[in-house]
Amino acid sequence: MQQSTIDTVYPPTGTLVGGEWRKARSGATFPVHDPATGEVIATVADADPEDAADAMDAAAAAFPRWSATPPKQRAALLHNAFLALQERAEEFARLITLEMGKPLAESRAEVAYAADFLRWYAEEAVRITGTFRTAPDGTARHLTLRQPVGPCLLVTPWNFPLAMITRKVAPALAAGCTVILKPAEETPLSALQFAHILTDVGVPAGVVNVLNTSRPGPLVETILRDGRIRKLSFTGSTEVGRKLLEQAAPGVLRTSMELGGNAPFIVFDDADVDAAVEGAVAAKLRNGGQSCVAANRFVVADPVASRFVDGLAERLRGQVVGPGTDPRSTLGPMINEKQRNRAVGLVDDAVSHGAVPAVHYRTAGRGDAFLNPVLLDRVPSSARIAREEIFGPVATVYRFSTEQEGLALANATESGLVGYVYTRDLNRALRAVEAMECGMVGVNRGYVSDASAPFGGVKQSGLGREGSEVGIQEYLETKYASIDAGALA
Ligand code: NAD
Repeated sequence: MQQSTIDTVYPPTGTLVGGEWRKARSGATFPVHDPATGEVIATVADADPEDAADAMDAAAAAFPRWSATPPKQRAALLHNAFLALQERAEEFARLITLEMGKPLAESRAEVAYAADFLRWYAEEAVRITGTFRTAPDGTARHLTLRQPVGPCLLVTPWNFPLAMITRKVAPALAAGCTVILKPAEETPLSALQFAHILTDVGVPAGVVNVLNTSRPGPLVETILRDGRIRKLSFTGSTEVGRKLLEQAAPGVLRTSMELGGNAPFIVFDDADVDAAVEGAVAAKLRNGGQSCVAANRFVVADPVASRFVDGLAERLRGQVVGPGTDPRSTLGPMINEKQRNRAVGLVDDAVSHGAVPAVHYRTAGRGDAFLNPVLLDRVPSSARIAREEIFGPVATVYRFSTEQEGLALANATESGLVGYVYTRDLNRALRAVEAMECGMVGVNRGYVSDASAPFGGVKQSGLGREGSEVGIQEYLETKYASIDAGALA
């Protein structure tokens, strides 16, 4: 690891299997790059299906003991991990910026968000309940209990290299499940450093195993088809999610899917337009637009559309594009050149279909992954950008005249993760909340993520929820015992 780039941060670079940090069995490694410079910042073990077999053995062996560990002890370990992460927040923020590119201020916010899942599920671990009831005909008593589903496979994306991990690991461990974590190949370092915290605070060997790989397809498929794992929790693209659902089907694995979005952001004619612009900047540019809850489509009522476009254009032009490590930067690089070029391709296609650029891209001249914000007005529905998740700092505007038309435009997508709505009319806001086909709605705010709230989507944005008291249920099975009541009569 290069000290000049990583500074004081030295995450482990091996796999974590059965409590041991080790090389991949094949000895293979792969490089991790700084998106701002393209430089190699670390080289990590490249796990393959042989390593996966070891990790499954470890997760299966650790399960009986971990699931029987008193909830209070599991809670204490999660709470200690929360404290450790808070204490080392700055170190983690630097690591996130280094491997993912976002500005340090945003990385700090991610660490706080990530830590919150540890705190929340430390609290939930001791609140796993059951029920006891008399059967309606009086012949039996019904006892229900909640039990951990078993060893789980957790697969996470690169855009929130720490928070997407704690959002799965914390409820899984709180429920009594053991896990194999497979982080994204672009951002393995935050995951490895977090696993180090878990082993440091005393999470037993085999409870958390980490496999990084440059070839996720064969490794994940091996695990899903093996039979030792009982559940898959995946966050990533809808395309990969569909494939994994197929691979999980033969074993009838339980699945949780947090997939892609194509979020509408509706601004009605009675909205506070300045507040809407403010919310739009947050909902569009957080994480450089590389977020599943990023506003993709600004659906704006005709009478306020020009004011909204002018206000947003001014704010987008004012962004400072630069490396995340520079405190002046408000927008970092995209994750890599390929993703940048994909976003540029969507912009070019939209313009060729007649979209009007209010702010156009220029070559930022700072490296291949940088893209300055773009704003396209009057985007026709024939443009690819109207249907595809943008995942970059590109905002698109669609104008409408009636409330019904606005809601129809918002729902014209196969995705259904989040929507945003700006209006001063409470009844209209409630109508929109009920009509919008998505799992989450931001009302007069461009932010919905919170460890205490159920995060997730409908339609092709996924299955299940993460966060809140609902999130732990994804890792629990219901068992029911029917007890003969004859002797009680
Ligand atoms: P991705 O689907 O390419 O990768 C996600 C994970 O899947 C990574 O760990 C990757 O290694 C693994 N993977 C890739 N191909 C695989 C295969 N064939 N078999 C098994 N595993 C495979 O997604 P990404 O580019 O890392 O992340 C961006 C996507 O994630 C976006 O669509 C975004 O909307 C979505 N996302 C959703 C949420 C949510 O909560 N709904 C949160 C963050 C990101």
